[in-house]
Amino acid sequence: MIIIVFFIIHWYASLFFQSFFHHRYAAHKHFCMSKNWEKFFYICCFITQGSSYISAYAYGIMHRLHHMHTDTEADPHSPANHPNFWCMMLETRNTYFSIYRGKTFVDEKIKKDLPEWNAFDAIAHNWVTRTAWIIIYTIFYIIFATEWWLFLLLPLTVIMGTLQGAVVNWWAHKFGYVNYAVNNTSKNIVPLDIFFWGESYHNNHHKYPGRPDNAHRWFEFDALYKTELLLHKMRIIQLREKKLSGPNSKTEIF
Ligand SMILES: [Zn+2]
Ligand SMILES: [Zn+2]
Repeated sequence: MIIIVFFIIHWYASLFFQSFFHHRYAAHKHFCMSKNWEKFFYICCFITQGSSYISAYAYGIMHRLHHMHTDTEADPHSPANHPNFWCMMLETRNTYFSIYRGKTFVDEKIKKDLPEWNAFDAIAHNWVTRTAWIIIYTIFYIIFATEWWLFLLLPLTVIMGTLQGAVVNWWAHKFGYVNYAVNNTSKNIVPLDIFFWGESYHNNHHKYPGRPDNAHRWFEFDALYKTELLLHKMRIIQLREKKLSGPNSKTEIF
């Protein structure tokens, strides 16, 4: 029971910070925050993503490339370019590391305003730290797993952040419904998103990438946007001007 509860909490916590910090803040600039809060959320990402921690800077570049080149050969993770889910996930990982290590040429405008904390990434992003996380997870499972099959969740725990990115990137370009006719395969995975913090409304997001609220129809609910409104009221973040982020906006952030 403890392992199941841990896994569920880990799923939502890891996905929350990847969606909030990496996707909507770093890549899309839906809101801004002070450098101190930025550092706080870096640490939150490290704690919740653990062995699958990724750099917000490299993620931001990769995700902006996805929006610029969706479903073409230059798209870093389109299902159209890969025979199956695992091939796409592996290729995405390789592309990500190439960007992180500076081996991929990236135009300056794609790097614009991305958060960077190199000293922190040097600690959080190396294999010694990842291995330490894997040891911690394994010990936790050994102590609390009451059935053998619970250990099947251990590899998913280790790759949690990578897995979540790949699930959305694959599924939301393969299956679901469409609100807007766009020139790519993006879909909204489910009408009521209770698993992905509003990230499953991917067709809406591709149509209006600069709009903070991914829910566009009466039955859709973007829990992450609601959280952003709360953080905005608490003055932890500042959402961008509504005129820049509404559905009729001419200004699109990738
Ligand atoms: Zn997409
Ligand atoms: Zn996006």
